[in-house]
Amino acid sequence: MKDIHYEKAVAKFLIFLEEKGLRKTTERMMMLEEIYSRHDHFDAEDLYKTMVDKKQYVSRATIYNNLEVLLECGLIRKNQFGNNVTKYEKAANFRQHDHLICLDCQQVKEFCDPRLQQIQKMIGEMMKFEITQHDLLLYGHCEKADCENKKVLNN
Ligand SMILES: [Zn+2]
Ligand SMILES: [Zn+2]
Repeated sequence: MKDIHYEKAVAKFLIFLEEKGLRKTTERMMMLEEIYSRHDHFDAEDLYKTMVDKKQYVSRATIYNNLEVLLECGLIRKNQFGNNVTKYEKAANFRQHDHLICLDCQQVKEFCDPRLQQIQKMIGEMMKFEITQHDLLLYGHCEKADCENKKVLNN
């Protein structure tokens, strides 16, 4: 689905590639399109599998390299969910949000609370610090009935 976010992302990416002297390759543009059509948190392997399923052949190395390029361009956001879990998501022009992570099924939920922005602003003023971003991860146990690995309590 092509929307305004995607159109803006393409424009930003093309300018970035030009400035960095990088080529506008089909693979790069396909990756950007794929990323901007999804609404989840994904890693390189997820992206690779989806693209292979859609017969868009891009090598794993190309995916890894271009995730770095997209990150540098600010078009994706990199999240460290737990020790060895790195997930990406599209970033440009999206509302600020934070994450809840279930320690049992690793499912990630998003939430947005404008009060966090106010706190960030207050802390910045108090500490004489120009805060440009924040990362907040809340860990715990989701309440889904089918949450995998959830420890079953004996009644
Ligand atoms: Zn869970
Ligand atoms: Zn997110």
